[in-house]
Amino acid sequence: MLLNLGGQQEVSSAMGPGKRSVLWVRGCSILCSGCITPEYLDHAVRTETTVEEVCEWITRMKFEHQIEGVSFSGGEPFEQAKALAFIARACRELGLSIQSWSGYTKRYLEKGHAPDGSRELLETLDVLIDGPFIRQRPTSLPLRGSSNQHLHLLTDRYKVEDFEQRYMELVIDPKQTRAVGVMNHAHLRAALALSGILGDV
Ligand code: SF4
Repeated sequence: MLLNLGGQQEVSSAMGPGKRSVLWVRGCSILCSGCITPEYLDHAVRTETTVEEVCEWITRMKFEHQIEGVSFSGGEPFEQAKALAFIARACRELGLSIQSWSGYTKRYLEKGHAPDGSRELLETLDVLIDGPFIRQRPTSLPLRGSSNQHLHLLTDRYKVEDFEQRYMELVIDPKQTRAVGVMNHAHLRAALALSGILGDV
């Protein structure tokens, strides 16, 4: 089974509780105005990897960085739900927690016409942050881009207080410097300008 993977981050403290590895999948049909990750929207761009390769990478991250979990972002994770459910089950066997964002609402994902494998993926998650990004509804809530998005604790692994931090990380890499975290455009512009590295964006 293949996962169309746009990006990955070995370890981050800005994408959920504790230290986490992050997968950004490629492809999203929702197309919110002002999406902060437009580079991951096009399903036609294929940068595929096998789910087994991803599981091996996550296993290595657990031992190299002592991550406590993995976060799925994108792109739209539920448009590749079957592949991510496979990965999530392997993560659970390693004792890792799983968090995912989705531009679809939880209610929609629980229905029959949700993308294939959605129920399967929902059953593996500890945390879901759901709903499309609505530019006209800004928020300062951690890990959410707009105020319509909700945090769902699907297991008893975490409490709401575990999600109170609001970090952004700047990853400086010779190939690509990038910001990691969920933030509004004003915060992102301010942080990148303050870094003095990228100037305005
Ligand atoms: S659902 Fe997420 S990835 Fe898809 S367009 Fe909206 S903000 Fe972007």
